[in-house]
Amino acid sequence: MTKVKNLIVGAGFSGAVLAHKIATELNEKVLIIDVKSHIGGNCYDYWDKNGICVHQYGTHIFHTNLKEVWDYISQFTKWYPYMHQVKGYIDGQEVPIPFNLNSIHQIFPKPMADQLEQKLIAKFGFNVKVPILKLRGTGDKDLEFLANYIYEKVFLHYTLKQWGMKPEDLNPAVTGRVPVYISRDNRYFQDSYQGIPMEGYTNVIKKMLAHPNIQVKLNTKFEQQQFTYDRLFYTGPIDEFFGYELGKLPYRSLRFDFVEFEKSYFQSNSVINYPNNYDFTRIGEYKYFLDNQSDKTVISFEYPEMFEEGKNERYYPIVKDENQELYSRYLEKANALKNTYFLGRLGDYKYYDMDKAIARALELFRRIQ
Ligand SMILES: Cc1cc2nc3c(=O)[nH]c(=O)nc-3n(C[C@H](O)[C@H](O)[C@H](O)COP(=O)(O)OP(=O)(O)OC[C@H]3O[C@@H](n4cnc5c(N)ncnc54)[C@H](O)[C@@H]3O)c2cc1C
Repeated sequence: MTKVKNLIVGAGFSGAVLAHKIATELNEKVLIIDVKSHIGGNCYDYWDKNGICVHQYGTHIFHTNLKEVWDYISQFTKWYPYMHQVKGYIDGQEVPIPFNLNSIHQIFPKPMADQLEQKLIAKFGFNVKVPILKLRGTGDKDLEFLANYIYEKVFLHYTLKQWGMKPEDLNPAVTGRVPVYISRDNRYFQDSYQGIPMEGYTNVIKKMLAHPNIQVKLNTKFEQQQFTYDRLFYTGPIDEFFGYELGKLPYRSLRFDFVEFEKSYFQSNSVINYPNNYDFTRIGEYKYFLDNQSDKTVISFEYPEMFEEGKNERYYPIVKDENQELYSRYLEKANALKNTYFLGRLGDYKYYDMDKAIARALELFRRIQ
């Protein structure tokens, strides 16, 4: 039996923020364990033999409007000022995603593109994201055509692959939210702060955990009977913590097929989506993120699949009412426990971008303080 003051399960961003805050501001001892053989959770990256920084669990781009989060993480890294763009392979062209005025001009003949642009600006103004549901409601045949085109070519088949179900079956609200961006801004995010840590995400987390009060134990799965603690912070799956006694919370997973090529670049952009071709959803090319120079390149094909214990990783909670209800019942049990806190994308059964996971951990720290 190991006795500790603070036990943290999971060495991803959520666990690392708490470990760092407790160690530095409360001056208390922390043991942080992870079942994996490395720190960093899903944000784990490493330098391969060609000097390319590869994100093992898929492309990760840091972006936030939360200045507090940006300033906090900036203690541990300098940033490569990277602004993410995504292209979609649509009707034989690589066009900006979300679909914007540049996409319209790339896909449609000029007179048609000009007319769509004029109508969009006249109706909605410039530099706004308009859900396609709104376009459908305008009563204008051209805008309705555009809405249907975007739905079919950008959204529908991508969603079928990504989630293995029709958009309507997933959550009725999701369908109409797909935007057309009335802008020439090709960036995927408009957040004030965007970048890639200059030495990678793993090194950020390594620095966060480099404190005499913090002990890290890898290859260690949480077993309740092996530890006594004053406080437990659990960033693993909440249903697993309770032995799945109410049932399993479903997740969507991904398979990454990594391939190295003997050439400088494989594609024209870091991420290209394939909504309508192939079984994979997208291809990521890693050297773009930090502009790593090499005459070789590494890419990953991303194949969505259902999460199965022992086969793959939990990635995306599946947004459905019945899953949310099951989670609420686990949350009730969690709230009844003393000195035990659940957080992170697995503990909260919620998709968080990195900045939101960090903000959630900072907020929890303020609460326990
Ligand atoms: C494919 C993909 C792409 C993404 N891209 C982006 C992006 O571009 N930008 C962005 O901001 N966010 C992105 N994210 C989200 C980002 O990965 C998360 O915000 C982040 O990983 C959350 O950190 P976390 O600590 O909550 O969870 P995790 O990183 O999953 O860490 C949880 C840790 O707990 C460990 N653990 C679980 N159970 C146990 C147990 N029983 N015992 C011991 N250890 C355990 C796990 O091994 C894991 O290391 C992406 C996510 C995915 C899936």
